[in-house]
Amino acid sequence: MTKDIQVLRTPEYKAKLSKCIHCGMCLHACPTYAVFGTEMDAPRGRIALMRAAAEGRIGPEAVKDVFSRHVLLCLACRSCESACPSGVQYSSLLEMARSVVEYNRTQGALERLLRWIGTKKMMPNLKLLKLLARGIWVYEVIGLQRLVRSFDFLLPATLRAAEGILPPVQLRFTPLGQSASPQGERRGRVFFFTGCIQEAFLAQVNEATIRVLQRNGYEVYTPPGQTCCGAAHLHLGDFESAKRLARKNIDAFLSLDDQADAVICNAGGCGLALKEYPHVLSDDASYAHRAAEFSSKVKDVNEFLHDHLNVLPTGKVPVRATYSDSCHLRHGQKITNQPRDLLKKIPGLELKELQQPDRCCGSAGVYNIVQVDTANAVLDEKMEDIAGTGAEVIVTSSTGCQMQLIAGVRRAGLKAKVMHVVELLDLSYHAADGNQNHRDEA
Ligand code: SF4
Ligand code: SF4
Repeated sequence: MTKDIQVLRTPEYKAKLSKCIHCGMCLHACPTYAVFGTEMDAPRGRIALMRAAAEGRIGPEAVKDVFSRHVLLCLACRSCESACPSGVQYSSLLEMARSVVEYNRTQGALERLLRWIGTKKMMPNLKLLKLLARGIWVYEVIGLQRLVRSFDFLLPATLRAAEGILPPVQLRFTPLGQSASPQGERRGRVFFFTGCIQEAFLAQVNEATIRVLQRNGYEVYTPPGQTCCGAAHLHLGDFESAKRLARKNIDAFLSLDDQADAVICNAGGCGLALKEYPHVLSDDASYAHRAAEFSSKVKDVNEFLHDHLNVLPTGKVPVRATYSDSCHLRHGQKITNQPRDLLKKIPGLELKELQQPDRCCGSAGVYNIVQVDTANAVLDEKMEDIAGTGAEVIVTSSTGCQMQLIAGVRRAGLKAKVMHVVELLDLSYHAADGNQNHRDEA
């Protein structure tokens, strides 16, 4: 349910707004401020707009116009939260502002249809997504994609952007309702959250995640009945869909008789959404307790392996790599050192830091499809930074970032490969086994 402007006029919302002391320390952390250089496209300006709406200084017309424009241009990357000395909970302010924008916005028929198909029909339905992945696989292998990309200037911007982030699809899906046995000494049991887009389009990352966990002594069980985490729905201000998905995931994971040590997620954005289920379901008394229990078990795979790397990766992976933080992993989950520490354990891998590793890549849920020009400006800045490192491998830890960076490599004409941290660990373990034929070699 999206919200009327009155939700910005509550004492709770105003109290959150009042924590901003206008110091401006967040400005240079903000990617949209870097693109536009304007106060209204920086956190402080957006907060000023929210305050004006909260205090009734702007009315419905301005909400539909200037307020919506600047709120929708925000990437929700939370970089400003990390930079803020005053503890402003920007993401929570933005979430409510977004829902007001959605409530007041008139969507075109095409947009409504695409949203309905994407977020209501496809993302919550893994079977449909896998069917789509099969279709895209055919589109890629028969060479139709090459043809379309040669003439992509003929496509509308949104369609061009959506096509542009399609990664090479590999059709190797995770079997649901099955366990993968631990290798060597058994250390425990974990549940695996596959993600929806991740499972359909980057299934090789899920495969590598399971193998690496097995290698470290964990039985990995992938519960059936799990669904999309709801992050995209939250991003679009669709709280009711996000709540439905949260309840479904909680039921899928907590209804199992034989519980596990942790629920592992390998995508920064999905993991943050799963960890925030208590907030999402805060007004649902029947789920509040279960949401807290579920979320306390969720671990990002970097976070988990950092503390449970029982088998060192000893195989050489001689590449120069750079790590691009997922915003939701870094600013949302506060996981920064763990992926870097894991990468540094891989023999032969040279890790070159970016000038701005914490700067958003422009993916931001569906931002790269709905705000194409700004997303591309943010992406171009990121790719310039990456090119400066001379990296052959760009490492990241979230589905959207991985797809966006694959598109960025093509856009910038680089030769680099984009991989998840676990894919590199997996390569190292295989190299240690002397397996020269592993299909994902860098
Ligand atoms: S969330 Fe990101 S894009 Fe939005 S105001 Fe904060 S730093 Fe800027
Ligand atoms: S850093 Fe925090 S307190 Fe300062 S302007 Fe930005 S949001 Fe407000």
